[in-house]
Amino acid sequence: MPVHFEYLPYRASFRQPLLTAHGAWSEREGILVRLVGDTGRESLGEISPLPAWGTETLAAAQAFCAALPQQLDEQTVRTVPAQLPCCQFALETAWEALHRPDHPSPVRTLPMSALLPAGPGAIIAAERAAAQGFTTMKWKVGVGAPAAELALLPRVLEHLPAGGQLRLDANGAWDLPTARLWLESCADRPIEFIEQPFPVGQEEPVLSLANEFPTRIALDESVAVHSNLLRWLEFGWPGIYVIKPSLAGSPRKLLQLLDCYEAEAVFSSAFETSVGLRAALQVVARAPDNGRAVGFGTIGCFADERLNLPDPGHTLSTKWLARQAPGSLWQHLSNEPRAA
Ligand SMILES: [Mg+2]
Repeated sequence: MPVHFEYLPYRASFRQPLLTAHGAWSEREGILVRLVGDTGRESLGEISPLPAWGTETLAAAQAFCAALPQQLDEQTVRTVPAQLPCCQFALETAWEALHRPDHPSPVRTLPMSALLPAGPGAIIAAERAAAQGFTTMKWKVGVGAPAAELALLPRVLEHLPAGGQLRLDANGAWDLPTARLWLESCADRPIEFIEQPFPVGQEEPVLSLANEFPTRIALDESVAVHSNLLRWLEFGWPGIYVIKPSLAGSPRKLLQLLDCYEAEAVFSSAFETSVGLRAALQVVARAPDNGRAVGFGTIGCFADERLNLPDPGHTLSTKWLARQAPGSLWQHLSNEPRAA
């Protein structure tokens, strides 16, 4: 039965700008979608594009929403074009939430990874994260000079608890000599993996490095959208796949694909509001458990607290998640000045 469809663009500032190899990033733009069934029940979904990761642009998503009819049927939701992965995610998750509200995610407790900022601020952040009980941390590198960042590495590692592990995320900033320098330095240290050393389209050296060094290598930007993910799965990439569900298109197809190829996945967020985060975490809960921590360190990233999920701490239980209703976010954002 068709349901009523509405959409609402939003723009929201981060509590602190994020510094990555892609530059400084201070605000997020996205679109909330709302589906309302004939009984008045409603559900929300979130379109949160990252065009630098290969998704559609915000303008393309907005044009798609503007062209949709006000009454949506399941066929329309299941056939959103592949070039609009964030729209696929938002509509499918909102549709599922509306039609299968009692379909629970498996009861899971997910270990969480703490996100450490680039530069020397990582040292104090690692100390704080360890005191909060985190055992997995991710440090953004590739922002400063490699020698300066490498010199900080032992000081960040000092704060890891016993048995803890550090992930390094270069966001595609390195060249081959820099990657070799880091891999040599990481070989006998508790580094869980190095994420996206090279830019998209220039990944070829990872294949030989993955055989040459003991530290695992993960691909993130390179596998963000379905077509690229499929290419690396078919190729048989022996490393880890960082999956951002809200960028990866249809969750149903994503989980089938990962299952089919027995890919080793680490799940991650992409600066979503509580609506997108809840939906993404419900996808994670349905994926096979490989014991690796979940990279949702962006929870709490917005200056306006009403957009954030509460801080779950170093683990997140799906029972806790089920209690985090989206509340009045739609009404709140409806009252905000529209994005220009
Ligand atoms: Mg990454």
